[in-house]
Amino acid sequence: DNPVSNQTNHIFKSKLPDITISNNLPLHTYCFDKLPQTADRPCLIVASSGKTYTYAETYLLSRKIAAGLSKLGIQKGDVIMILLQNSAEFVLSFIAASMIGAVATTANPFYTTAEIFKQITASKTKLIITQAMYVDKLRPNEANQENGEFDFKVITIDEPPVNCLHFSVISEANEEDLPEVEIDPEDALALPFSSGTTGLPKGVILTHKSLITSVAQQVDGENPNLYLTTEDVLLCVLPLFHIFSLNSVLLCALRAGSAVLLMHKFEIGTLLGLIQEHKVTVAMVVPPLVLALAKNPQVAEFDLSSIRLVLSGAAPLGKELEETLHNRIPQAVLGQGYGMTEAGPVLSMSLGFAKHPFPTRSGSCGTVVRNAELKVLDSETGLSLGYNQPGEICIRGQQIMKGYLNDENATKTTIDEEGWLHTGDVGYIDDNDEIFIVDRVKELIKFKGFQVPPAELEGLLVSHPSIADAAVVPQKDVAAGEVPVAFVVRPNGNDLTEEAIKEFISKQVVFYKRLHKVYFIHAIPKSPSGKILRKDLRAKLEHSNQK
Ligand code: ATP
Ligand code: MG
Repeated sequence: DNPVSNQTNHIFKSKLPDITISNNLPLHTYCFDKLPQTADRPCLIVASSGKTYTYAETYLLSRKIAAGLSKLGIQKGDVIMILLQNSAEFVLSFIAASMIGAVATTANPFYTTAEIFKQITASKTKLIITQAMYVDKLRPNEANQENGEFDFKVITIDEPPVNCLHFSVISEANEEDLPEVEIDPEDALALPFSSGTTGLPKGVILTHKSLITSVAQQVDGENPNLYLTTEDVLLCVLPLFHIFSLNSVLLCALRAGSAVLLMHKFEIGTLLGLIQEHKVTVAMVVPPLVLALAKNPQVAEFDLSSIRLVLSGAAPLGKELEETLHNRIPQAVLGQGYGMTEAGPVLSMSLGFAKHPFPTRSGSCGTVVRNAELKVLDSETGLSLGYNQPGEICIRGQQIMKGYLNDENATKTTIDEEGWLHTGDVGYIDDNDEIFIVDRVKELIKFKGFQVPPAELEGLLVSHPSIADAAVVPQKDVAAGEVPVAFVVRPNGNDLTEEAIKEFISKQVVFYKRLHKVYFIHAIPKSPSGKILRKDLRAKLEHSNQK
């Protein structure tokens, strides 16, 4: 008997019905659909200055900037780079790009010259919107530094250095000059880059159609999976250059008519003060921020009672930490979303956030979004698995990327012929249709024949009151191949020992998941999008072994 021919295809869907999605529109039209009703509502609130832009102002300014960009020669299909921290100019430039059919590539302003240039070259950037302090990084060699020239136009939102233009050149253009452009739903709109957690960041092509589909899967329908209203104030502290914040915070808020509180950088005291002052109702966070909210003593000094929803995404969050946070913000619904740049990015989201919520379990990443199909693949047999069996998560739907930028081969190995995007993440679906991510396939530690997910041990470690933060990586071992070892951050003045930590873990796990070594460290290296950089820790281990 050929097992493949009798396979049952297990495909998981949302508990919410599919809906009609207006993904034939250009993104800006879709997002500002409710403008007549929301015109006078706050859209963007700049935390540092308190300046607020209403929906009408945001829309008008975006049109002016679109006209301005077009005057500077930016045409349909051209790429502009937004190299900014969270700011009104970031948002306005992104919407403006959509309005003229241009493509926005977003980059971390803290990148080095080499990193920025890799992205400029790959995306063929024609114009960069940035801040004066980053302009020196845009002159790659001495020759350029001397004559101050660039191969692209540079606009700064503050006082422009030589050969740069001031943002007012575009923001004060006449919106009536905005050219008419035909936008095809399949046209590229955004070129975000993946976080570079496992290797180099990969450029991802997202179209008007993919982004609208993703936003609709979250906030549209009679019972939206993520219910946002015009009364909501969303915290936007996660960097907008990463797709999680760009999509699930900014675009979802725009679609729903909510206000977005823009913070240009994370500082816990400032953040808590802003939540209290602006009565933030929805906090989109990443595990390092959950860690801060759950463990930092300052939290008790602020009134966080306005928060009704906390959504964590981008990296594994153990149920222990989720529960600690719940005790601090008891009135809020807590849950996770699971995303991947290539998936547009949201694959699943807690149904506890729905207008008519469903019961959910702590530690889950939610249920697959509506208008999409999800399966769990057994990498050995190639069969799709049923409930409670871990395998590689795959997703299919109109929200996924068109492909990787300039990498057809990588696209082909990631999206198969049937349209399934293979995530590289291991997870399972429980009998409540909720997804539990175990870890990335590549990050599983192989102890003899057993697999140890570092994320599980990290979750347990940070649940210890005397552990401020932790990460787990494999260490080479003659007998076992690999063994799990931990890097642990202790709070100041704490003298928790290696032995005590090892014992804390061994009491809770099967023998092969026990820690073989604990290294104390000052801070766990993390990417700005909230991921533990285990590759840096592995390198650190290898380096110390060579000594
Ligand atoms: P790169 O692909 O460049 O190595 P990256 O995969 O970290 O970096 P992103 O696209 O930003 O780049 O992140 C997607 C990954 O983040 C997912 O594949 C998954 O491993 C992880 N992730 C996202 N959300 C969650 C979550 N809720 N729980 C566990 N892991 C998550
Ligand atoms: Mg990835």
